Amino acid sequence: MTQQATPHAIIIGAGIVGLYTAYHLHRAGWRVQIMDRAEPGMGCSAGNAGALSSASVAPLGMPGIVRQAPRMLLDPSGPLSVPPHYWLSAAPWLLRFIRASRPDHVAAISRALKQLLAPAINSHQQVMRQLGHEDLIQITGQLHVYPDEQAAAKDSGGWTLRREHGVQVETLNHQQICSLEPQVGPHYQFGYFMPDQGMVVNPLRQAQTIAAALAADGVEFLRDEAQALKIDGQRVTGIAAGQNSYHADHVIVCAGAWSAKLLETADYKIPLETQRGYHLTLADSGISLSRPVVAADRKIFVSPQEAGLRLAGTVEFGGLNRPPTQQRLEPLLRYGKLLFPELNTSSQAQSWMGHRPCLPDSLPVLGPARKLKGLWLNFGHGHLGLTMSAISSQLLSQALCGQTPDVSLDPYAAERFQA
Ligand SMILES: Cc1cc2nc3c(=O)[nH]c(=O)nc-3n(C[C@H](O)[C@H](O)[C@H](O)COP(=O)(O)OP(=O)(O)OC[C@H]3O[C@@H](n4cnc5c(N)ncnc54)[C@H](O)[C@@H]3O)c2cc1C
Repeated sequence: MTQQATPHAIIIGAGIVGLYTAYHLHRAGWRVQIMDRAEPGMGCSAGNAGALSSASVAPLGMPGIVRQAPRMLLDPSGPLSVPPHYWLSAAPWLLRFIRASRPDHVAAISRALKQLLAPAINSHQQVMRQLGHEDLIQITGQLHVYPDEQAAAKDSGGWTLRREHGVQVETLNHQQICSLEPQVGPHYQFGYFMPDQGMVVNPLRQAQTIAAALAADGVEFLRDEAQALKIDGQRVTGIAAGQNSYHADHVIVCAGAWSAKLLETADYKIPLETQRGYHLTLADSGISLSRPVVAADRKIFVSPQEAGLRLAGTVEFGGLNRPPTQQRLEPLLRYGKLLFPELNTSSQAQSWMGHRPCLPDSLPVLGPARKLKGLWLNFGHGHLGLTMSAISSQLLSQALCGQTPDVSLDPYAAERFQA
């Protein structure tokens, strides 16, 4: 009888997506190495809002976005910013984004999002239970508030989609909002509550917990920067990283917003943009919350984190290399105060910027690269990367192990952008 060799994979990127991918493959008996130029979890996964938004079946590009976007862009403290120097670079991505917001596309995208989102929280819970850290995940529900019903009507397409997909949504007046979160101010008179949503109380600790468990179990962390994929004929054979060269049976790209640059070396052109997002975490905010609260008119997420109250949001185009724009932080405090008049804005605040890896159709790239054997992809989860990280990694691991994944990976293929 011939003995099967243990399959070997190198994962590029030790963000939450790469770490979960490593977890599932290691558990399936693979030899796994994870390469990152930084410490595990220190990319975009370090500072997100911690919301497990499994009801977010509406893509960012909804019908009507073309009418709404100019108003957002003209408001310097609005949720969307494309600086003049970046318009030309962003234009091809924005055109694809507009095309993806057509009603027929949105229906298909929403179905594909639901496939990943419906099992997403359970998938997190399973792993964190196996690791003995269930405390990191809480089912708290999620509260979205608007100044009034008219303001909420601007998002009616998204709420209709949620209900069509079976999400439980409760409509609230100000009194009902305050019975859930007493410190919400009078500016917000109308809201929706989704009781099945969850949160991670500390996304960085979650990533570090998975990394520590993997390291303790013999998974090797390679501190290096991948520069190119090594290709022999129709097969990826490893990674070139400066002076170093690594061989692997399989290479899995989980490099978040930096993935497309790496894939160019394998002749894959993926329209991946960074949507730069910001947070402020206030250690002594004076606000006590039981769940993430979203000022939906301003697209600001406020979540109770272990480190304090986190105000997160804004979408800024501007590429991977420019330093953070300090002016993007001010609206977080200003509108945070409108949401919670008792917010202590003089509390010590820790600020952060992260690169959300965004595809124009709001779906990740997930599955085998069909042009090259041995190359696998798991990136581009955009605004929902924490939420979808566990499930997308579980599905990819099933495919790598030769099983039929629980969810078809066809809608997430990289090749959808090649046509
Ligand atoms: C303000 C903000 C709030 C957010 N809130 C939420 C939320 O509430 N819920 C939610 O679901 N999502 C949220 N997100 C999105 C979520 O954080 C991201 O989608 C997710 O963290 C992406 O994870 P990742 O592992 O793909 O990428 P990352 O965490 O960025 O990891 C990629 C890793 O790859 C490494 N890397 C890149 N290139 C190379 C290379 N060439 N060689 C070696 N290493 C490399 C990087 O160093 C990094 O460690 C938010 C994002 C932001 C910015």
